[in-house]
Amino acid sequence: MGAEELRPPTPGLLSGGARSIFWSVDSSEDLCLSCGLCCDGTLYDFVMLEPGDDALRLQQLGLRVKVSRGRTPVTRFPQPCAALCQDRTCRIYRDRPRQCQEFECGVLKDAKAGQITYAAGLREVKKARRRADEVRRLLRELGDTDVHRALGERFHRTSERLEAGGVAEAVKAKYADLTQAVHHLKLLVGEKFYLRSQAKE
Ligand code: SF4
Ligand code: SF4
Repeated sequence: MGAEELRPPTPGLLSGGARSIFWSVDSSEDLCLSCGLCCDGTLYDFVMLEPGDDALRLQQLGLRVKVSRGRTPVTRFPQPCAALCQDRTCRIYRDRPRQCQEFECGVLKDAKAGQITYAAGLREVKKARRRADEVRRLLRELGDTDVHRALGERFHRTSERLEAGGVAEAVKAKYADLTQAVHHLKLLVGEKFYLRSQAKE
């Protein structure tokens, strides 16, 4: 999470077939359909397009593709992704950008390499989702209800807003809880999701 514009998503999100997070999983597709963290604004703020991606076509398909400002402009679209469905399938699966086709998080890599079971991968996913939900709850209680922005961006905006006005006594404890919840989420995703598998590839 954070200002990351690194990569993004996601090989296993298929176009169809809702799954419950409480089902057992025994494949990469099952794991990703129980997760969606690399598409929903938890792990990343943006997905960058690569040479070969058709920005216009992706725009027509509903992605909010834009060229960023700054010294080195990049073409990208924000997360949570507009193509992510409620059942965690990808609405534009066949046309998804290259990064989405190629990305595998550390948990998925480890499961595919046999270093952990898919059930163990699901436990990490569930843990991360619980931590992300806690961050969302605290953001909401602190006045940020903008669910169309990535979690990292929401946290930065909320921090700036609260600190600019001087953190009122009444919200100090909740802001401290939020900061801690974000820290716990970052620790987990940094350790389990951003890392690549140790297996030789
Ligand atoms: S974060 Fe990993 S397990 Fe979750 S959907 Fe993305 S690739 Fe799949
Ligand atoms: S295009 Fe599909 S795979 Fe890519 S971020 Fe959006 S929902 Fe995820």
